[in-house]
Amino acid sequence: MTALHQNPVTLLENSLASGRIHSAYLISGAGEKPRETALWFARAIACAQRATAHGPCEACPACRRAGAPVEEVAIEGIDKGGPAYRHIGEHADLYWTERAVDKTRVTVQQVRAIERAVRRPSVEGGARVAVIHDAEWLNVEAANGLLRILEEPPTDTTFILVAPSPGSLLTTIRSRCIRVAFPAEEVVLLRDASTDKAVAELVAQLDGISRLRLPELIGWAEKYRGGRAQAATGVEHLLDVGQLWLRERITLAAREGRKDLNRELDAFATLGECRRDLATRNAQPRMVAERGLFAIRGAIRS
Ligand SMILES: [Zn+2]
Repeated sequence: MTALHQNPVTLLENSLASGRIHSAYLISGAGEKPRETALWFARAIACAQRATAHGPCEACPACRRAGAPVEEVAIEGIDKGGPAYRHIGEHADLYWTERAVDKTRVTVQQVRAIERAVRRPSVEGGARVAVIHDAEWLNVEAANGLLRILEEPPTDTTFILVAPSPGSLLTTIRSRCIRVAFPAEEVVLLRDASTDKAVAELVAQLDGISRLRLPELIGWAEKYRGGRAQAATGVEHLLDVGQLWLRERITLAAREGRKDLNRELDAFATLGECRRDLATRNAQPRMVAERGLFAIRGAIRS
């Protein structure tokens, strides 16, 4: 089932209004919208006052419990007893997992932990929702584990997968999900006459990044000082162009038949995290720029 022809949110609103919540959704598209929508939809499903299509009522106990920012607990150290998932706010039946900060993949331990959680009786007596963010990073074992759960989904449980491109998931997983597709990243031309001057300058700098030594890289990040708002806008631009630049490299390398693109893909994901830090954590723009530039540089060192 796809919904490419309609506003993706309308489809979810219709699900809420009719009370027919499917056992799995796949939200895809560029930028932060899919993540925000997954969070919104999970909270709306849990909302005890759910009577309309307009999402969480923000007033009932369930909404209040699920209201805290989703980033509060970092997922890391899973092998050493760290959390495999977190709750959305303090809502006992809303689960969220994503690629741990110290891992390159979403692991099978995470999928199993989520499965154990949703196979237990609901704590609040209502629906359970598990969001699997970064679903494109599920390793093979984790993807197969997830597929088995989706084949026999627990009652009153909804899985929401989030991935930039639905094509990155197993077809067998995709076919079990209601597809909610936001537009994919717009294609921005990086290297022709119509390229914006500021973009072209950054692209030229990025083209030379492998030749930069550490102090020069740090010096580059140092430019993003000064007033936070202005510096943050500059770093956002750097991250956007950096992702496009990496995307171009990845596409070309894949076309040449290169299989091992993990370093580039990891750097791409790191830039996404940087953008998130900038938006949600009041991180220092200069530090975010430094992290982003190091990620790019690290990915293309031969
Ligand atoms: Zn509510």
